Amino acid sequence: MTPHTALDPFVTNQISDLSLSKDRPLIVTDADEVLFQFMAGLEAFLERQGYEITLKSFAITGNVRHRETGAVVEPADMKQLLGGFFEEETHRLDPVEGAADALERLSTEADIVVLSNVPFAQRDARARSLAASGMPYPLVANSGLKGPAMASLADLGGRPIFFLDDIPHNLQSVHEAVSDVNLVHFVADPRLRKLVPSPDADHVSSGDWEHAAEHISERIRAHMTA
Ligand SMILES: [Mg+2]
Repeated sequence: MTPHTALDPFVTNQISDLSLSKDRPLIVTDADEVLFQFMAGLEAFLERQGYEITLKSFAITGNVRHRETGAVVEPADMKQLLGGFFEEETHRLDPVEGAADALERLSTEADIVVLSNVPFAQRDARARSLAASGMPYPLVANSGLKGPAMASLADLGGRPIFFLDDIPHNLQSVHEAVSDVNLVHFVADPRLRKLVPSPDADHVSSGDWEHAAEHISERIRAHMTA
């Protein structure tokens, strides 16, 4: 395995614990806004805390206001609010419709890994929530852009290889780190899907697991018959 020094040892250890097959395709998927309804959960959490989020751009910071004063929440305070959100809500975010069924079908033909930027302290809550939602796949909690972790996963796994995420920077980072990756830009929330910029790298856009799974299966079939 090629060393990827930019990776936190906690991430490296989780990747070393995986047992991936070189003989099976590999599907790596983000969790928030792909497997779990992140924005819907965040909105409800912020509302309970006396805040509101206006979805005017694909960003959280700058779009959250105190409901009564209208004052925009400053970046440092937003960081704290988000920390509280992950602490209190990670274990009970609603799954995205169709995700569990689609992954179950895909798992018959591919290895599946969830690569999530959930805070390290909430890694186990996320793993339990994945299992409870019918998605008991190995989880790697990552920090920062996902290219370095994805390069390590690509060393271990088979082909074709897929990566799904809602955040364009992560898709771009993975594109630069893994030359033969198939990118799926997946955004579950229809309001966010309208706001999110597209990554420059070649990709397929989706917000629907039926569609995404069909695309992945087709690519796998095409690879096998090539
Ligand atoms: Mg996400």
